[in-house]
Amino acid sequence: MQPSLIVHGGAWDIPDDAVDACKAGCLRALHAGWTVLKNGGHALDAIEAAIIVLEDDPVFDAGYGSHLTLDGHVECDAIIMDAVTLRAGSVAGLRRVKNPIRAARAVLEKCAHMMLVSEGAEHFASQHGVSLCDPEELVSPAEREAWLRCKEDSHAAEHHRGHEQGTVGAVALDEQGRLYAATSTGGTCCKLPGRVGDSPLIGCGCYADEETGGVSSTGYGEAIMRVVMAKTATDFLRPSSSTPIRAAQAAVQLLAKRGKGAGGLILLDKRGNPGFAFNTPRMAYGYVKDATSFVASV
Ligand code: ASP
Repeated sequence: MQPSLIVHGGAWDIPDDAVDACKAGCLRALHAGWTVLKNGGHALDAIEAAIIVLEDDPVFDAGYGSHLTLDGHVECDAIIMDAVTLRAGSVAGLRRVKNPIRAARAVLEKCAHMMLVSEGAEHFASQHGVSLCDPEELVSPAEREAWLRCKEDSHAAEHHRGHEQGTVGAVALDEQGRLYAATSTGGTCCKLPGRVGDSPLIGCGCYADEETGGVSSTGYGEAIMRVVMAKTATDFLRPSSSTPIRAAQAAVQLLAKRGKGAGGLILLDKRGNPGFAFNTPRMAYGYVKDATSFVASV
């Protein structure tokens, strides 16, 4: 099987001066994941490597540099899903894990449950080799500044212009035909403490099924949940007349029509063909075009 990889760095109104940084982040993530896949590595290692690059980059809303909650903390959510077993590892409300995707992987591989939240998730992660950090280590100066400005008045989106960020995600297929999808986020700016969006929810922020393909979503979580967007997009891959681009577009049209919201998604069909769509002004994404070249766009 020809390996394949697609990543995203969120679908919002990414300002002009953040475009290059978002593209560069997507390219670095592709490079990290592709290094694993091109050497015959496991799709799970590839997807984790790609997401870690995006989580560590403060231009994106995941891991370090996530948006802050109304009370000024970072609370991260993440998920990885295995298309063969339909099992997911999901975590939500993490305040002390630098790379939430590592915690999601620990749940996927070592837990009888599929989703853990808050202290329980952190405790499980640390018991399985994921080190915990000081919550302040996840706060970037730009996000603290934006949060302080949001506290002074309620024009949150405006305060984030100049360093607006998005959730991150990836879908990877390896040469053995193993397919995984993953999503990681700090959620929405000034969310209530304890708010969980679509991202770590199976079928909403992420879905993977070897019969159809794998998807990672981004955008307004409350709308994405209404239409269970990731699972819906994989179902749109089923008809033989479907293409990855058409399936992605149909899911985003449904998000707008029935979910009444904005967002986007990336996907790979079961053969590794990439697709993407968004109804926000921009989305950061990138994929491996052929074994030697990457495409990244915002
Ligand atoms: N979907 C995420 C959430 O609602 C946010 C995003 O994709 O940027 O938490």
